[in-house]
Amino acid sequence: MIEIKNISKWYGHFQVLSDCSAAVAQGEVVLLCGPSGSGKSTLVKTVNGLEPVQQGTVTVAGTVVGAAGTDLAALRARIGMVFQHFELFPHLSVRDNLTLGQIKVLGRGRDEAVARGLHYLARVGLLGQQDKLPAQLSGGQQQRVAIARALAMDPLVMLFDEPTSALDPEAVHEVLAVMAELARDGMTMLVVSHEMGFARQVADRVLFMDQGRILEDSATEAFFAAPQTERAREFLGRII
Ligand code: ATP
Ligand code: MG
Repeated sequence: MIEIKNISKWYGHFQVLSDCSAAVAQGEVVLLCGPSGSGKSTLVKTVNGLEPVQQGTVTVAGTVVGAAGTDLAALRARIGMVFQHFELFPHLSVRDNLTLGQIKVLGRGRDEAVARGLHYLARVGLLGQQDKLPAQLSGGQQQRVAIARALAMDPLVMLFDEPTSALDPEAVHEVLAVMAELARDGMTMLVVSHEMGFARQVADRVLFMDQGRILEDSATEAFFAAPQTERAREFLGRII
C-alpha cells in the first residue's frame, strides 16, 4: 500500500534522509521509531507529499507521490494523518470539524457528511460531543476527534506522528485503545511512537531510524527480543 524506494532528502547541505526504503502492506501496522532528529517525521511526511524528496520514489496505492501528473490533493484526501499537536480547527464545532473536509474536498452532501462524521465519532467513543468546540474537550478527546475526522475521509492508510506524546497518561491510554482497535479492523497504519507497549501489542513490524537511515526493519518480536544494531539496542535500553 505504501512503498518507499531509495529516498534521499537534503535541507541545503544537511542530508535528512539517506537512501531509505520500506514498505507497508495493506492491513499492516508498522511502527517507526528512533532517536530525536533521526528523520521520522520527515519520512512520514514524504508519504503524503508534505516533504518532497530529491531522490527515490514514494508510492501510495499505486500512485507515485509528487510525480508530474499526480493529483496530490486527491491522493492526500485519502491519506489520514494525525500529528502530535491537535490540528482541529479551533473555531469550528466538533461536528463541523468532522464534516468540513468531506464536504469541501470529497464533495459530499452535508447530510451524508454529518452521518459519517457521527458514525466515526461514535467509534472513538465520543458521540454526544459534536456541538462542543475543541477547547471544551480534553487533549485525549481532541486527538480522538482528529482520528474520527481522518477516518470519515475513507483513508487508504493512516499516518500517525507521535499522536500521544503531548497527552497525560490516561489520555494516552484512550488514544492508543482507539488506534489498537483500528489496527484490529485492518487499517493500514504507519505510526511514529515511543509507546513500546503499544508497539509490541499492535505493530506487525518495526522500523528503526538513526541519522536519516533505516537501520532495522524487523518483525516486532524479533526487534524487541534481539535488535540487530548497537544503535537500536542502546535506544531500547534508554526508553524501555
Ligand atoms: P523527533 O523525535 O524529535 O520528532 P524526528 O525523528 O521526527 O525527531 P525530524 O523532525 O524528521 O526528526 O528531523 C530530522 C532532522 O531534520 C533534524 O535534525 C531536524 O533538525 C532537521 N530538519 C527538520 N525539518 C527541517 C527543515 N525544515 N529545515 C532544516 N532542517 C530540518
Ligand atoms: Mg518527529
